[in-house]
Amino acid sequence: MNDDGPRYSYPVTSTDSSGVLVRAEIDVAALQANAAVLAKRLAPARLKCVVKANAYGHGIDIVAPALFAAGWRDFCVATINEALHLRELLGDDVTITAWLYGPTTDLDAAVAAGIELGVSTVDSLERLRDAARRTNTTARLHLKVDTGLGRNGLAPADWKRALVKLKTLDARTESDGADASATTPELEIVGIMSHYAVADEPERVETAQQTQVFDSAHRELSAVLDGAQGRLGEPERLEVHIANSPAALTLSPFPGTSARVGLSLYGLSPLGDQTSQDLGLVPAMRLVSQVINLKDIPTGHGASYGLTFTAAADTRFALVPGGYGDGIARSASNKAEVSIRGTRYPVVGRIAMDQMIVEVGAGDVAIGDEVVIFGPDGPSAAEWGEWAETINYEIVTRISERVDRVEIEPRPADGAGL
Ligand SMILES: *Cc1c(COP(=O)(O)O)cnc(C)c1O
Repeated sequence: MNDDGPRYSYPVTSTDSSGVLVRAEIDVAALQANAAVLAKRLAPARLKCVVKANAYGHGIDIVAPALFAAGWRDFCVATINEALHLRELLGDDVTITAWLYGPTTDLDAAVAAGIELGVSTVDSLERLRDAARRTNTTARLHLKVDTGLGRNGLAPADWKRALVKLKTLDARTESDGADASATTPELEIVGIMSHYAVADEPERVETAQQTQVFDSAHRELSAVLDGAQGRLGEPERLEVHIANSPAALTLSPFPGTSARVGLSLYGLSPLGDQTSQDLGLVPAMRLVSQVINLKDIPTGHGASYGLTFTAAADTRFALVPGGYGDGIARSASNKAEVSIRGTRYPVVGRIAMDQMIVEVGAGDVAIGDEVVIFGPDGPSAAEWGEWAETINYEIVTRISERVDRVEIEPRPADGAGL
């Protein structure tokens, strides 16, 4: 799969790449190495690869096949549309879990495609049962319990109601004369899941409290499944998952039988006090542009809209394609840095929709030079997060459709030759 050249995650209208100014190079070998590092850390719990939001901006059409090629078979996304796309991309030999849908979302296609779905409302249990009936398949479900995040998931009262509803649905199955061993069950509870709120702050007590709530919900669900004697799934086969990247990297003992890992798969650190390198991870995205104009600037000259920067001395400006139309944060204006020929230079003035100005002064810079906006050999996505007053998650995920994602060959570890 690696020898059919660069692949793009979005349709390209021109085959002439000379017009491409900003590229996100995706280091597939880094992705695969990160997955191996994380899986080793998690074992015996299993790695679920989170590839929602276009694989955190990296391009799902590059990322998912690369992980598949390295042997990974367990994927998570948020929405059903993402899940169906992934099913088409990877085929039937993978487990795909999705958890975000609304009261009018058509669930039939997802159930028919064997997508495993998170259940966060009592009503969706019946809707999923109906979808299973219509499509003549089993709906495979992960009950999602809100253990304190307050976002999605069944809150405590709804959790109790969901368990009662499950028993009701099972009683109907029983009275229909269905025999678990002879007919296809409509619902199979394959997992229980939750999500941490502060796992990136290891000193906080809420994480252990959430684990406790989760453990007790797990016991209650197991009792209900035991009572249904296999008609709703096997309690000892339940997949138990609450951990995200920060939890996977910090918690010991590790809670659950698997972890849903996103950010750190892409080689980024979810922890404020540890870098990618500290964690043995390699950033998989390198966002690059080029110098397309270079000009001498006299003292007192301004830069970009609002003239919020004024040259304090005679200097040179390099014009670099890349702006908020590419998903580069305007809020990093006058704070960000980029790297050219291994040297850091400041972004001066406001970042515009398509372009930014970099003050290169007397630096060794020529038209056509590559500009590393962020990546392993330039500023990190975490630094951009600080400059833009956000987090590295958002820095990579917001990279827009105009930027071409290109799969690259592994680069030398020391960055030589760049
Ligand atoms: C996005 C998401 C994850 C992955 O989180 P990371 O911190 O990127 O590892 C896991 N679970 C749920 C429910 C999510 O929404």
